Amino acid sequence: MNLPIGRRLAATLSGIPLRVQITAMCCSFVVVVSLVTWIIVSRSQEQVIQFEALKLADIVVKQAASARSAYSSLAVSKLKSDGLGASEFSADEHGHIPLPAQFLKNLSYRSQQDNNGLFSFRPISKWNLAPEHGIQDSFQEWAWQQLEAQNQRSPTAPLEWTPVWRISDDDNGKTLRYLSADPAASPSCVNCHNVLEKRPDVIAKRIASGVKPGNQWQLHELLGAIEITIPLDRVAALAREQTRDGLLIVLGITIIGLCGVCFIVFYDAARSHAATRKLAFHANHDSLTGLPNRFALESTLNDLINPSEDKLRKQQVILAFLDLDNFKQVNDTLGHETGDKVLTMAANRIAQAVADNGLVARLGGDEFAVAMPGKSVEHVNAIAGRIADAVNQPYEVEGYRLSLGVSMGAAIYPDHACTTSDLLRCADVAMYISKNGSAEFSWYDPDSDTNAVSNLVMKDELREAIDKQELDIHYQPKYCLKTGQMTGVEALARWNSPSSGFVPPDVFISLAEHVGLINELTRLILKGATDQCRQWRDAGYELSVSVNLSAMNLHDGTLPDMIREVLDSSGLPASALILEVTEGTVMTNVDRTCEVLSQVRNLGVAFSVDDYGAGYSSLSYLNKLPVSELKLDRAFITHVGTSEKDAVIVRATLELAHNLGLSMVAEGVEDAAALDFLRSIHCDQVQGYFLCRPLPARELDRRLPFIRQFKPVPDSELEPDQLMQTGLDGVPQSKAA
Ligand code: C2E
Ligand code: MG
Ligand code: MG
Repeated sequence: MNLPIGRRLAATLSGIPLRVQITAMCCSFVVVVSLVTWIIVSRSQEQVIQFEALKLADIVVKQAASARSAYSSLAVSKLKSDGLGASEFSADEHGHIPLPAQFLKNLSYRSQQDNNGLFSFRPISKWNLAPEHGIQDSFQEWAWQQLEAQNQRSPTAPLEWTPVWRISDDDNGKTLRYLSADPAASPSCVNCHNVLEKRPDVIAKRIASGVKPGNQWQLHELLGAIEITIPLDRVAALAREQTRDGLLIVLGITIIGLCGVCFIVFYDAARSHAATRKLAFHANHDSLTGLPNRFALESTLNDLINPSEDKLRKQQVILAFLDLDNFKQVNDTLGHETGDKVLTMAANRIAQAVADNGLVARLGGDEFAVAMPGKSVEHVNAIAGRIADAVNQPYEVEGYRLSLGVSMGAAIYPDHACTTSDLLRCADVAMYISKNGSAEFSWYDPDSDTNAVSNLVMKDELREAIDKQELDIHYQPKYCLKTGQMTGVEALARWNSPSSGFVPPDVFISLAEHVGLINELTRLILKGATDQCRQWRDAGYELSVSVNLSAMNLHDGTLPDMIREVLDSSGLPASALILEVTEGTVMTNVDRTCEVLSQVRNLGVAFSVDDYGAGYSSLSYLNKLPVSELKLDRAFITHVGTSEKDAVIVRATLELAHNLGLSMVAEGVEDAAALDFLRSIHCDQVQGYFLCRPLPARELDRRLPFIRQFKPVPDSELEPDQLMQTGLDGVPQSKAA
């Protein structure tokens, strides 16, 4: 409680709104400025008035003394020289004029009448016999004493007299009262007064008034004084008016200035408030769709989920994850601008389908989430149905009519997870299960979690591996049975996941298809394989390279461009590239696939139907497609040496291929018997572990000189040992050693 004043003030101020603080400060400032201005201006005006009044009083005194002196020297001296002169009773005496002192009194009466009250002066003296010119009031008494104090007896030279003054403020207003010494200035003046003082009537008057009679003056001694009175009221009123006007101007300028400052402050505050709100909005919302972002979703979930609450009292929160199907293709095929439009439309549809049942957020890419507090499982099932219906409606964008799907999964707090991060993860797992299965919407199932989690982790790892180009390619040779020469290699993708180690290509290829990474993966393999093949061809090995395509690559309009690009960048002739497509791939969308295959075929690239016979073989498409090779599935080859049925199928297929003008490759040759049989029926090409396993480029590079040719020996001439000599890896054992 004993906080320092500064802190207490800060604490108090922090509770008051900024606007109120600024307004209060401005008002206080105006009051202080007004007071200070008033005091300073009033003071300086008083001093000016005082100075001017004193100057005027001095002038009047000097003027009066000069007038008396002129009168004395011009009029009185002249008359004296004519035998006449000045007399106290001049009115009754012929040829006499009043004494100079009487002249001064008359002058004072006259000026008082004429100057309209601007000032008054009158001679006064302690010795004056006329009572109205004697010492009458307290000012005169005080001032006369001040003058007497400056007086000296028998001075030898004129004394330096300092006038005595005071500004009185009474009922009559402000008035300057000023008393200036009027000493005995000339011998005639001294004589006149000394003579007068000796007169019996004067002596009697002095005694009567209690003053010591017979005073005799010396030259320059204090004889009398001239009192000036100047009323200051009028000039003070004028000054007050000026002060008021000045003050009003100062106040006006100050208030205008303060208003300006306030305006700037408030405007700036309003602007920064708006900017803060905008920043807060951007921090919590996705810029494309305007929906809350992952951060906003997580903070909402954090608010809803209180891990410390008793389980029974916990409010149920259902979190659904949504991932659009096929969106990647839209983006890749029609470009990001169109993709953004479709995404915005899909976001609006999801938000409308959810309405006020929950918070819809965009997590990034084509992933959304919906947090639904207090909703039942049935209710969420219904909402999921509405979302699916809305998202599945066609999208009319820039003249295209596009279709999207959606995979959804949901998890329940507190049943499935007790924290926000766990709930997010569980919903993601549930969504992943939908994505990989046929259902549009799945609830989180703890039993399938482990698998799903590893898929989720793998998804991120695969994305990173593709981004960092960390996928490997192994190459498996393909031989012409007739010549025994290696005709080409098949490029097979290899990936070691950081968390799971070696992942079979079937697994990560289908993962890449599901998470929309297949295009990047294919591009990576195509680029690596064509570059490598070019190097082998440069080294004198006339090889072709076969690259496997996914169904998705064929449904994507960008494939022809991708092929053109990699061929251009590697410098490999198009004829040296063979693209392997599976039957299933072709059958999903025969027309579209045919179109894309034809475009690529026009570049000079050959196609091979991979794993022929593994799916629902339809002979009709073989005719339509621009393929040049048939790769019989290894299921028929592996045991062909021993299985009569397989032998029949293989023979029939070879006949079919030849009739259609296609070359046939038997893949999965694992033993000499199979190879023998294939040779006996004049199969075109063979590929299999018996001849050579898939090898890393560097390893194949090393072995190429030894394995580029295997000896096509007739069955009867072939000893088992010799067959084995070509070894599992196709390397003649003695040389390889
Ligand atoms: P595929 O295109 O039919 O490739 C041949 C597969 O058979 C390879 O399996 C190869 O190692 C294996 N193989 C070769 N000779 C023998 C043999 O004598 N016996 C046995 N049992 N197997 C043999 P792998 O490398 O595991 O690839 C499996 C499938 O994954 C491939 O089948 C292909 O469909 C797919 N795949 C591999 N790499 C890629 C790729 O880059 N892109 C795409 N889209 N798919 C790929
Ligand atoms: Mg293949
Ligand atoms: Mg195959």
